[in-house]
Amino acid sequence: MHLILLGAPGAGKGTQGSHLSDRLGVPKIATGDILRAAVHAGTELGREAKQYMDAGELVPDSVILGLVREALADKAARGGAIFDGFPRNVSQAESLNAILQESERTLDAVVVLDVADEAIVERMSGRRTDPETGQVYHLTHNPPPAEVAERVVQREDDREETVRHRLEVYAAQTAPLIDFYEAAGLPVRRVDGTGSIEQVQERILSALGH
Ligand code: AMP
Repeated sequence: MHLILLGAPGAGKGTQGSHLSDRLGVPKIATGDILRAAVHAGTELGREAKQYMDAGELVPDSVILGLVREALADKAARGGAIFDGFPRNVSQAESLNAILQESERTLDAVVVLDVADEAIVERMSGRRTDPETGQVYHLTHNPPPAEVAERVVQREDDREETVRHRLEVYAAQTAPLIDFYEAAGLPVRRVDGTGSIEQVQERILSALGH
């Protein structure tokens, strides 16, 4: 099963992708996670990517395609993968088709997580992370306990201004992929991304016929 999760930043692709990965038994390939790990490790790739990420811009395709090629070559991905945050534009989607074709693989479906922009801004601008444990909180929905409240930090790209810019980048560059994949005859399933994690997961699984 090769599946693409589309949806604006903050629509819940990461969370849903991890659950789906467990349920379907294929790894999740999340380019944003790979890039953040590189930034954290201070590699050259991380240093190059950070400036784009902090500004809410897309990292150049050449960098991203190398990462995806590597992740797909891993034997864990032999039976498929769930792509989260990739492809982000039509050019990446065309490259993905070519990369998959090299190993005689094809995409099975695209799931689009629908969440309104204002709900996304609220979700993301309230998000805080504990740098010591990696635990993620939300100022309104899941406030950090008093003992960690002092040290939680906001991801640079979760600042409201940057979130709004990322939504514009999504609308301009990534949302056209919905038409791209529909035109290619792939099943594109739109799923309401609001509600509990479990509710959204059930909607995705039933949209995929599971
Ligand atoms: P994400 O966690 O998927 O929202 O990604 C965080 C940031 O990493 C994005 O705002 C981009 O700067 C960068 N990024 C992640 N995936 C891609 C991609 N496929 N193409 C270009 N940039 C990406």
